[in-house]
Amino acid sequence: MLELRQVHVHYGHVHALRGIDLDVTKGEIVTLIGANGAGKSTLMTSILGSPRISAGTLTFNGKSLAGLTPHQISRSGIAISPEGRRIFLRMTVLENLLMGSIFADPSLREADLQRMYELFPILEKRLHQTAGTLSGGEQQMLAIARALMSHPQLLLLDEPSLGLAPIYIQKVFQIIEQLNRDLGMTILLVEQNAKQALKVAHRAYVLQHGHIVMQGTGAELAKSSEVRSAYLEGGHKATA
Ligand code: ATP
Repeated sequence: MLELRQVHVHYGHVHALRGIDLDVTKGEIVTLIGANGAGKSTLMTSILGSPRISAGTLTFNGKSLAGLTPHQISRSGIAISPEGRRIFLRMTVLENLLMGSIFADPSLREADLQRMYELFPILEKRLHQTAGTLSGGEQQMLAIARALMSHPQLLLLDEPSLGLAPIYIQKVFQIIEQLNRDLGMTILLVEQNAKQALKVAHRAYVLQHGHIVMQGTGAELAKSSEVRSAYLEGGHKATA
């Protein structure tokens, strides 16, 4: 479904991604782990066209994403729940959900909202509440629901458990598994919570200094002594 080949990204003279080869196949949960500054968010946002890749190829369902605007890429079936959630804090929950469906078929909107209330019952209870007044966990649910409102084929989740209370961390990982199992959603997940992320992932990549340094099934990487010492036992690396 998604294929990155020798992808490089620069921010001025910061060389953030240095030849990334990565695949996400339909129906998979693929997770990307790595220290702060390793390039994880850059990889996610470059799939959506900002920043633009400086070399390499990025294809989605066999079609190059080169030259497409972020809006065109979203319309092609990729949605993101970004790091820090980035919901519209002054809008209500409902307005945020509707923002997610801007490019979707309007005739499906009501059914889509119902689907979101089933997946995230708390959002229906908070429907007319300003998003900025939601708890961190509720905001995260809203960010994921907003992304789903666009009917993506591929869902990018950037640090969905970051800063959440333990009960919401569990909930986020349950939702990820549920979306994949019950709706067949294909997911690319970036997480600092490597232990949980490797548990739910079919396959995983370890990113270090803009390079993929390891890859395998979630179970294989969870067993690797290198991954265990760097990302599982005693937390994660502090720097890339
Ligand atoms: P974190 O886990 O802390 O979010 P990350 O793995 O997502 O880190 P990125 O945010 O992708 O890492 O950053 C990769 C590298 O690119 C870092 O060296 C970072 O300082 C640099 N970088 C990221 N965004 C920009 C930007 N807008 N301008 C310049 N450099 C940037």
